[in-house]
Amino acid sequence: MHDDRTLVEARLDRVLRERIRPAVHPMTAPLDVEIWSTQGEPVPVAEGLTAPTGPIAEGTPWGSPWGTSWFKVTGTVPAEWAGRTVEAVLDLGFSPRTPGFQCEGLVYRPDGTPVKGLHPRNSYVRVGSPVAGGEQVHWHIEAASNPDLTADGAPFQPTRLGERDTAGEAPQYVLGAMRLAVFDETVWNLVMDLEVLGELMAELPVDGARRWEILRAVGRALDAVDLQDVNGTARAARDELAGVLAAPAVPAAHRISAIGHAHIDSAWLWPLRETVRKVARTASNMTALLEAEPEFVFAMSQAQQFAWLKEHRPEVWARVRKAVAEGRFVPVGGMWVESDTNMPGSEAMARQFVHGKRFFLEEFGIESEEAWLPDTFGFAAGLPQIIKAAGARRLLTQKISWSRTNSFPHHTFLWEGIDGSRIFTHFPPVDSYNCEMLGRQIGHAARNFKEKGVATRSLAPTGYGDGGGGTTREMVAKAARLRSLEGSAVVEWEPPAEFFAKAEAEYPNPSVWVGELYLELHRATLTSQAQTKRGNRRSESLLREAELWAATAAVRTGSPYPYEELDRIWKTVLLHQFHDILPGSSIAWVHREARETYARLAGELEGLITTAQQALAGEGSAELVFNGAPHTRAGVPAGGAAPAAGAVGAVPPVPREGGGYVLDNGLLRVEIDDRGLVVSAYDHTVGREAVAPGSAANLLQLHPDFPNQWDAWDVDAFYRNTGRDLVDVASLGVDGTAVRIERVFGESTVTQLLSVPDGVPRLDIDTEVDWHERERFLKLAFPLDVKADRYASETQFGHAFRPTHQNTSWEWAKFEACNHRFVHVDEPGWGVAIVNDATYGHDVTRTVRTADAGTTTTVRASLLRAPRYPDPETDQGVHRFRHALVPGAIGDAVREGYRANLPERRVTGAGRPVAPLVTVDQDAVVVSAVKLADDRSGDLVVRLYEAHGGRAFAAVSVAGAFAVDRAVPTDLLERPLADADPVATEESTVHLQLRPFQLVTLRFPRV
Ligand SMILES: [Zn+2]
Repeated sequence: MHDDRTLVEARLDRVLRERIRPAVHPMTAPLDVEIWSTQGEPVPVAEGLTAPTGPIAEGTPWGSPWGTSWFKVTGTVPAEWAGRTVEAVLDLGFSPRTPGFQCEGLVYRPDGTPVKGLHPRNSYVRVGSPVAGGEQVHWHIEAASNPDLTADGAPFQPTRLGERDTAGEAPQYVLGAMRLAVFDETVWNLVMDLEVLGELMAELPVDGARRWEILRAVGRALDAVDLQDVNGTARAARDELAGVLAAPAVPAAHRISAIGHAHIDSAWLWPLRETVRKVARTASNMTALLEAEPEFVFAMSQAQQFAWLKEHRPEVWARVRKAVAEGRFVPVGGMWVESDTNMPGSEAMARQFVHGKRFFLEEFGIESEEAWLPDTFGFAAGLPQIIKAAGARRLLTQKISWSRTNSFPHHTFLWEGIDGSRIFTHFPPVDSYNCEMLGRQIGHAARNFKEKGVATRSLAPTGYGDGGGGTTREMVAKAARLRSLEGSAVVEWEPPAEFFAKAEAEYPNPSVWVGELYLELHRATLTSQAQTKRGNRRSESLLREAELWAATAAVRTGSPYPYEELDRIWKTVLLHQFHDILPGSSIAWVHREARETYARLAGELEGLITTAQQALAGEGSAELVFNGAPHTRAGVPAGGAAPAAGAVGAVPPVPREGGGYVLDNGLLRVEIDDRGLVVSAYDHTVGREAVAPGSAANLLQLHPDFPNQWDAWDVDAFYRNTGRDLVDVASLGVDGTAVRIERVFGESTVTQLLSVPDGVPRLDIDTEVDWHERERFLKLAFPLDVKADRYASETQFGHAFRPTHQNTSWEWAKFEACNHRFVHVDEPGWGVAIVNDATYGHDVTRTVRTADAGTTTTVRASLLRAPRYPDPETDQGVHRFRHALVPGAIGDAVREGYRANLPERRVTGAGRPVAPLVTVDQDAVVVSAVKLADDRSGDLVVRLYEAHGGRAFAAVSVAGAFAVDRAVPTDLLERPLADADPVATEESTVHLQLRPFQLVTLRFPRV
């Protein structure tokens, strides 16, 4: 037979586009449209419903950037449409280019009840089926003229649209057609049939019979369509397709569990307040779709987004609650937000699950067993243990498919963390968290699935996120046709928990991946928006102190424990760990508000700390030193207070021969040359030099930094090819007991204070940068005379190792990575840590001297960047950083990391020492939280972990606080562990054995 395949395919394409799709709405009637625009921020719904509107015609520009307009839409269903299905098609001025990222609306009835959202590819509102004719329609639309920051055709260009004050007033949209229309369901179904078959056909092998079978059926269907009367002939065309659509899937077909989904970033190219409305629109849409489509199931993550509905949109919340109770609107993830997981500290990562799971339990009685993080930029190796300790056991993410260098070898596997905890993990092979049920996506998922032969199932999160409105009726219609269709994977709507249960059952011994799930992309999110990073780190440290001192004051003095305040502040900090806020990838508006919020929280937390410490200190004029760190410091016990023994000083600098200064406290001798660089750091106790021969530490290095795309997110490997050392010194002198160094470069200045404290082998480096560079990357380098094949970076509840070499592409790709409070490199018995108070990004490289094969390791902290998208002014201004060079073992790195983030506090009072509530007799076992139980029973909750990476035996005592005969091991939610009995105490002391990096939560009853 002659090969006319491409002819038929091209015919299908044109006839669908030009004749059949337009016939879905064969008749239309105009609606009367009026508009009122707010001056500024959104108004309450009641105000919008009664606002004084004026007429607006199709084709009229409307909507200043970030404005809100209320449309009033009225009309009458023509009498001659009686018996037909009628809907309104409301085009606010949508561009078909993207499903979201532009204007959106929420349709209300006159009584203020929401109907559904309006989005570029979801702009209908059903009037009736069938209608009687003559019905009056009357709706209000709360329309947001959010500007399109994706910049069509030229992405990642600097734009002033990301901040209200700089966005201007120019209308962003032109009102499109606002009409009533007859909906021809038969034609719409013909469109769905032809799209599903056309898309499937394109995935099938050209030499396979099934492709040709479908092609011939499509040809017959197109023959059956009278192009002058599509509506009258659509049924006949469908009949021609019924046979090929009825052919069942083959037994070995891949099985896809589809779940309705809308990935809504809690802030990103819009401010937080707009996310509240995006969630309301999408949730309205999805509850409406659930009512219309009995097979459909929708999942939504992020307890915060549910909480926004509860607080701001009670009518939508009521609909969601009903659908949740029916098991069709499924809360997933059990986290407060879909957070970053690289940067949040131990407790914060734990609290993401505590607050998320607790919200779902309290509101819905639902316990999520899966972490749901489709879009997060890499996964820290501490996470598996945290997920398990929260009472969950599974993880879903898709993001690792974005890695640019290596293809991850599994889609379903066990992920093992630093302590040995393993969780069942699935990466949807559809490679999208916005699946549209397109044939190419379904075909890709089936082909891409790496567990073929040992497993058969994958998950497909299906729907438009970020203002696209979620799953569409078209996606549901396509899924129905793919339920069993020869040549395609099998698709079925299914809650994620059911997918996971089936996936686990069919694949009991999955492969194991050990260590972090590193995303080979978006590495600059560890550095961009430095003030947001600092705000997060500072908030985490202050929360630790606030809980510790408030609990101590409550137990010791009966002071009220600030449950409400801590709960609210925690949730705010957790919200800002969302994967576009803490990573620094949001618009200027978001980061300005984040800075303001962190400043407010710091004030509140300082207030809580002061109140508690004053209650503990009592009245008087004697000075007490409070130590909030987990290690004894200058004679003050961890978590306690002692009379001040005088200020801890620092050694005075003395002039250095040849220029510069020497700082020597008898433990560490630091030489700073006339360029202000550290050319020697000699550890007297072991007789070792820390700085690599011929090198200089505390070296600022400036690189060009213009990634190929994703400016705030990415730093590309070529940034290292060029750069310069900032060695010119503007001034060098002594400032008290510190050496002061000033440098000028570009438009910027940097001032550093270097000091060595009395009695501690540590070089403190305070850096202040007035940063006015564009598209540059500033690093602080420490070449160290240590030969290390791997280095340790602190992560949640421990540290993770990475190689210092680049033997493989996997190692090469980790050229920028995340640390918490320290990076440590060592040879057996001795090493050097670089600790910090607010930086996360770093790189570690090795250098071999050709003369003697001596190998040194260079640690560089990433200080600042200056990307121009999406915030064109990213990081401009003054920044402060504290770093320290600490010779010693891993335990010294752990201790000094805490110290750098938890400065001592001096409080005047009666002068009586405050004994700690909790003591631990072993430095390797670190207390990460001391608090009163969230259930307000007054029980004391203590979380601790093994921090050195070895086995530890520790006595944990509350004897100094109260008598107790048992401690109860709990999960993160402070619930007794099912598989662990209460531990008997001797004299209120528990003896524990901890595995390397094991975290333990203990509850001490106080009755
Ligand atoms: Zn996202």
